[in-house]
Amino acid sequence: MMKYEAVIGLEVHAQMLTDTKMFCGCSTRFGSEPNTQTCPVCIGMPGVLPVMNKKALEFTIKTGLATNCKISPYSRFARKNYFYPDLPKGYQISQYELPICEGGYIEIVLDGEAKRIGITRIHMEEDAGKNIHEGSGPYSFVDLNRAGIPLMEIVSEPDIRSPKEAAEYMKKLRTILRYLGVCDGNMEQGSLRCDANVSIRPVGQKEYGTRAEVKNINSFKFVEKAMEYEIKRQIKVVEEGGRVIQETRLWDSNKGITESMRGKEEAHDYRYFPEPDLVPIAADKEWIDEIRSTLPELPDAKRERFISGYGIPEYDADLLTEEKVRAEWFEDAVKAGGKPKIVANWIITNIFKRLKEEDKEINETLLKPKHLVSLLSLIDAGSTSSTMAKTIILDEIFKSGKMPEDIVKEKGLVQISDAGEIEKAIDEILAKSQKEVERYKSGDEKLIGFFVGQIMKATKGKANPQMVNELLKKKLS
Ligand code: ADP
Ligand code: MG
Ligand code: ZN
Repeated sequence: MMKYEAVIGLEVHAQMLTDTKMFCGCSTRFGSEPNTQTCPVCIGMPGVLPVMNKKALEFTIKTGLATNCKISPYSRFARKNYFYPDLPKGYQISQYELPICEGGYIEIVLDGEAKRIGITRIHMEEDAGKNIHEGSGPYSFVDLNRAGIPLMEIVSEPDIRSPKEAAEYMKKLRTILRYLGVCDGNMEQGSLRCDANVSIRPVGQKEYGTRAEVKNINSFKFVEKAMEYEIKRQIKVVEEGGRVIQETRLWDSNKGITESMRGKEEAHDYRYFPEPDLVPIAADKEWIDEIRSTLPELPDAKRERFISGYGIPEYDADLLTEEKVRAEWFEDAVKAGGKPKIVANWIITNIFKRLKEEDKEINETLLKPKHLVSLLSLIDAGSTSSTMAKTIILDEIFKSGKMPEDIVKEKGLVQISDAGEIEKAIDEILAKSQKEVERYKSGDEKLIGFFVGQIMKATKGKANPQMVNELLKKKLS
């Protein structure tokens, strides 16, 4: 049987976190009453003039710099003409032959191997409104609050070879956008959207196959699933003697399939032409350098620094640097005296679980770095057991934000690390368990667990388990 490989290129739309729209002063706030955030410019009245949002340009340049793009010294807007009820002007203002950013790349790591995915271009454009098909009447509604919201379109080279790589690329891009603070990266709410261009070719063939463009991938969960389905579908078409046709397909997450929507439009169908109502953009070098100087430490650099500087495993560094706030939280805890490996381990094994349950990021809870550091020193000093720390105490910090030492005192969770006291408890249990002691001495060593259990019960779980084990073994021998 012939072996095939997939070729994938992604077109990602990122909604920019500006206060106002791309070409007017309307608010970009989400969730308002329909059509309350509109004006003559964004509802497409004749005779009005758009004015570019400078912040949106700055955000796009910032993203271009963070993804190793060249920033064009001369760039301009273009009209992309098509008709749809959510586009009252009859055209979308976008960029075409002179985008603001070109020729960059993002590095992804898969199974320990780094790979560069080329960025063809990043351009600015405006979003369309939203058609609402609700109610029983023979009509639909149009909400234009979203019309004119600033978007970046980030187009990748066809460098991606598997759905896994595509998901990794999306994750990395999202992380970068969030580090920069230019997009919140929320796919479920539509502020980050992805269209996937997918084709297949026999392994070894140089030319690309015909691609289908898969739209409507509206959740991170579905990035891989949608592409896996599409690749299988195309292979089946070819294996059965057919040909893949160039078309636009819709991902249906309920059915788990892609369905043909329309034949693929070509650029010339849109009658692109330069936007006559907006001046071209000539971003000067000084301003670009100024923007460059505001770039934060990016995820790749942070990851490297965490591995070499703190000696934490790659896996931990990946997880901690995925979100900027996590990385900062980790570093704050280390600065406050926590040992890097132990802090990392606690965040990943004990804290992430709770964040997931509460659907929060680490900076949005009552647990602060100082809590963790003092909790770790209580464990170190033997003042509390790590089991209690991970359960009752951590729960209480999340609930009330109290300091661990206060919780330990209030709840009487102080661990017994006094050898005399522990020995007393051991003696009592052994005296009560003559039969078991006999059996243990005649070789049934499993009974050690029974004794430990009884002692922990007698001390209400407060005895230092390590000391119980040591002292018990000494006594029994
Ligand atoms: P359009 O805007 O019409 O979709 P573009 O030339 O901008 O066309 O390409 C869009 C995306 O398609 C890019 O991400 C590119 O990498 C990808 N692409 C181009 N050719 C192929 C192909 N044969 N297989 C998979 N992806 C492709
Ligand atoms: Mg396209
Ligand atoms: Zn407006």
